[in-house]
Amino acid sequence: LKYHWTHYPYCGGAFQSPIDLKPGLLRFDPTLRPIEIQNYNLSPNEQLTLGNNGHSGEYKSSVLSTNYISLPQRYTAAQLHLHWGSSSRLTGSEHTVNSKQYAAEMHVVHFNSDKYPTMSIAVDKSDGLAVLGVLIEVGDFNPAFEQFLRFINGIKYKGKSKMPGFNIRQLLPARLDEYYRYDGSLTTPPCYPSVLWTVFRNHVTISRKQFLALATSLYSSDARDSAPVSLNGNYRRPQPSDSRVVLVSFKEGKYGLQSTCFIFFSRNAKVT
Ligand SMILES: [Zn+2]
Repeated sequence: LKYHWTHYPYCGGAFQSPIDLKPGLLRFDPTLRPIEIQNYNLSPNEQLTLGNNGHSGEYKSSVLSTNYISLPQRYTAAQLHLHWGSSSRLTGSEHTVNSKQYAAEMHVVHFNSDKYPTMSIAVDKSDGLAVLGVLIEVGDFNPAFEQFLRFINGIKYKGKSKMPGFNIRQLLPARLDEYYRYDGSLTTPPCYPSVLWTVFRNHVTISRKQFLALATSLYSSDARDSAPVSLNGNYRRPQPSDSRVVLVSFKEGKYGLQSTCFIFFSRNAKVT
């Protein structure tokens, strides 16, 4: 299944996402505070809607709410979803870090609930959305992801099913203080440039088996279709950075070295 991207003018416009988080774009901002989340620990009695829209497996819940203390507004979580590669290609994240693409990426989508009553009203406003992005690598088994992976057979084809609530916090990296922050867009049509992005610096892992469950269990077609189409490789390529700067909450590490450590040779330098 493919979107008709060209039908959506914003998709060809400015401030699009994802982007490559490359050293030259990054600027340390000491005022970026750790992300604070509230009410991510959902009761198992609470039914979440697990859906397959043909683009990505996703949950919707109206009770998740998060509060970024570093921002003047409160954002309420509306859904989370994933982007991933295929069984033959373990790369499927949307954001890349200095050109490195991860195996998958999770997006927890929030809307500015101080200013707008619903997600659908906020979605095209410049200050409407805030998305938390989590980069996912294949490695150790992840018990938190297993809590919903064991339900994905229920949404094999386009449609919806229910699953019990669980602690969404466990899907995020341990450290919520190290992240990239920039202004961007939805990564699927209509590509509104309405997203304040927070991509955590530290990735989480899922096992190879878990990745393969994600990459092979879902179809982007209806159950009644005679030729089911696998749902995978559902990521958008990095977009131009335009004039944007990516603020980073952390100072140490590789990006600092790469952006400041140059060796200039004189024009006559030769290797002999
Ligand atoms: Zn997404």
